[in-house]
Amino acid sequence: MTPDVRGGGSVPGRDWDRAVGLVSSADEVALACHISPDADALGSMLALGMALRARGKRVTASFGERRFRVPRLLRFLPGQELLVEPGAYPPSPELMMTFDVPIADRLGVLAANAGKARELVVVDHHASNTGFGTLNLVDPGAAATAVLVEELLDRLGLPVDRDVATCLYAGLVTDTGSFRHSSTTPEAHAMAARLLATGLDPEEMARELWDRSPFGYLRVLGAALDRVELDRSTGQGLVWTFVTRADRAAYGLPYDELEGIIDVVRRTDEADVAVVLKEDDDGAWQVSTRSKGGVDVSRVCAALGGGGHAKAAGFTSHLPVEQTMASFRALL
Ligand code: 5GP
Ligand code: MN
Repeated sequence: MTPDVRGGGSVPGRDWDRAVGLVSSADEVALACHISPDADALGSMLALGMALRARGKRVTASFGERRFRVPRLLRFLPGQELLVEPGAYPPSPELMMTFDVPIADRLGVLAANAGKARELVVVDHHASNTGFGTLNLVDPGAAATAVLVEELLDRLGLPVDRDVATCLYAGLVTDTGSFRHSSTTPEAHAMAARLLATGLDPEEMARELWDRSPFGYLRVLGAALDRVELDRSTGQGLVWTFVTRADRAAYGLPYDELEGIIDVVRRTDEADVAVVLKEDDDGAWQVSTRSKGGVDVSRVCAALGGGGHAKAAGFTSHLPVEQTMASFRALL
């Protein structure tokens, strides 16, 4: 028997009721997730989008990047026909909803649309969420934003079919680190059981999410590991490396193929904190950070203009690698 335990516990009932009222009475809903979407952001958005479309609503979904491109790893997610480029997004939606977005900045160019929305419903699980919506469904105790979306679907009386479940499962399984992180609660497993019961294919999903890449990835990973450093001067132990545009260019490897490198680097026993700096196509450095718990990396990243969770956070830097690392070390 699947225990009847659900997420969204810290969201007051009246807020859920308001959300149900707003969504039920809308004919058109504009959905947005954070830029550089991960599986939880995109999956949560597409899951709700598909369910609302099936209910007969007009749905637009997007994320605010001018160079609009769904990461290769997430192209298997169903519902992508709902996606529009930010230029085609409603400029002032009656009802806009955001997913996995802790701060309006992370909406990229769609922050302007959010600013002009009549109602803005924020669905998120970041403890750092600023509450920038007219209604905020935020539960830092939820393992993923997908947990809150499942709850909302249930309250709306919308069925979770296999496609919707695939999108929700993508968020749940990635944000719990394949049910390894501390967010792996009985609730998380109970949700997985409900989703699996729809017939989704977890093996195929795992292959798409983690177990495949172009050959060039191996070479680029090799270059990153070749220059990895272990720095014990900071007390916690810091392991870090970087990947340049040139590393990727040599193998025609897109930026979004680099996501898994941090998971190799962070396994280092001698380090509590792991950092991978990744140069994007514009020459900016996207910095991924992880902690085993001794340091709250979201605070360090926030001080550098980014954010995230205590054990997984990030920021963008326009400075050279050594300078960025000097600032990061100083904050540790
Ligand atoms: P990743 O290293 O996987 O790109 O990001 C880990 C987590 O850090 C994400 O789930 C997100 O919450 C946060 N994050 C990453 N980059 C940024 C950033 O530039 N700004 C903010 N606010 N959060 C970020
Ligand atoms: Mn998330």
